[in-house]
Amino acid sequence: MTEPRYPATAYSSGQGDPVPRHRRNPRRAYDREGREIRPMDLENAAQNGVRSIRAICPPPCRHEREVALSRFPSTMAVGDVGLYLRCSACGRKGPETEPMWPLR
Ligand SMILES: [Zn+2]
Repeated sequence: MTEPRYPATAYSSGQGDPVPRHRRNPRRAYDREGREIRPMDLENAAQNGVRSIRAICPPPCRHEREVALSRFPSTMAVGDVGLYLRCSACGRKGPETEPMWPLR
């Protein structure tokens, strides 16, 4: 057994009951006990300066587009925005998304 890379206090702790692996949402994070960690929502992202996300269509298309977050409800999880997007180049649904953090 190797030493943990970060102290135990550095890990987020989840809420609620542990979720079995086969029932977990791939767009969510879980703590060591399998409890869901609350995802960053759009309101929290906006408080940290995020105004838009980059949507990236998977290969072979790889089309990229910046999407303003103001058109989505503030309670939506950042990782769920891609579920409501469709690629304007090839028409495929559900691109990868990443927050566009402000430059420091
Ligand atoms: Zn595409």
